[in-house]
Amino acid sequence: MNNFDFRTVPHLISQIGAAKQLGDIVTQHYPGVKRVLIVTDGGFLKTGLIAPAIANLERCGLHVSVFSEVIADPPEAVVHQAVGNAEKLQVELVIGFGGGSSMDVAKLIAVLTGSTQALSSMYGIGNVKGQRLPLIQIPTTAGTGSEVTPISIVTTGATTKMGVVAPQLYADIAILDAELTIGLPAKVTAATGIDAMVHAIEAYTTKHKKNPLSDMLARQALTLLWGNIDEACSNGANLAARQAMLLGAMLAGQCFANAPCAAVHALAYPIGGIFHVPHGLSNSLVLPHVLRFNAPSAAGQYAELASIIAPSAQGSAEARSTALITAMEALAQRVGIETQLRQVGIAEKDLDQLASDAMLQTRLLGNNPREVTRDDARAIYAAAL
Ligand SMILES: [Zn+2]
Repeated sequence: MNNFDFRTVPHLISQIGAAKQLGDIVTQHYPGVKRVLIVTDGGFLKTGLIAPAIANLERCGLHVSVFSEVIADPPEAVVHQAVGNAEKLQVELVIGFGGGSSMDVAKLIAVLTGSTQALSSMYGIGNVKGQRLPLIQIPTTAGTGSEVTPISIVTTGATTKMGVVAPQLYADIAILDAELTIGLPAKVTAATGIDAMVHAIEAYTTKHKKNPLSDMLARQALTLLWGNIDEACSNGANLAARQAMLLGAMLAGQCFANAPCAAVHALAYPIGGIFHVPHGLSNSLVLPHVLRFNAPSAAGQYAELASIIAPSAQGSAEARSTALITAMEALAQRVGIETQLRQVGIAEKDLDQLASDAMLQTRLLGNNPREVTRDDARAIYAAAL
């Protein structure tokens, strides 16, 4: 067994309705704190699902500010604007309340507020100096797992994204409350849920940091996600299925925070960067084609996961691995999301740029069980077209 290092968020609360008690949770754990900042996006704020949490914070005597300017693929300017607000308001605690983008911005606000370090010097791995404000994360989609990862992705140019990866980005508390996810449309539920399954699958087959804790989490994550995704899509008000999805996505987040993702994510990023396709859908579009490419190197591990996703599959490791890939492909068809790149506006002429951009994702490609060349990447995109 390899040596390994495993970290995660120290305090997890999985409880339907927990957000309504957010003020009690904050005052219990941070009795000296008076001014809190909620970081979210305008769309989620409009749903009204955040109102009971704010009401409870105020009832507990806390001064609440809301920063709701987060947008998908958040640019650096949004982070700077948020930090400026937080400093002016002398915020003492940050609460990320939303999808991956809101939680990623919340992480950076927590480390940048009151710090003299520039954001531009934090990109990369382990470059954050000093401490951060107390940080609570509350996901409103079951997908990114950002509530338990030490990663924040920021858009730095027209299409380029940079990541800050540092232990300071692990939150103090993550809260999973299915009442916040009941309004998610079926297709968003499907794409984000498949993204979470990709986190588990890629962590399970990652080349350098595969470890027994992440393996265990990946299996349990897939059991929960696979077992509940159809129900969560077709009956979005089923709170038990929604809570299971949140828990599965969180477990997958814990696992890929320690056993990182690989070529599915590397090939998905340019689809999001250039064509603004949401992260979950970008992953789902290339997933079966990357798995087929990887199968010669990873069939044994895919066959192990097939015991969860395609339990009736029999025969050789190759046959069970193929059953896993077919089952994931059938899931995307069944839940009605796009399954071909051409359906999101990508054409043959775009494949060269996609392949070149994917090759820049060296941090991810280095984890892939099979080496990916530029020609391989282009062939995978062509298969997905
Ligand atoms: Zn992902």
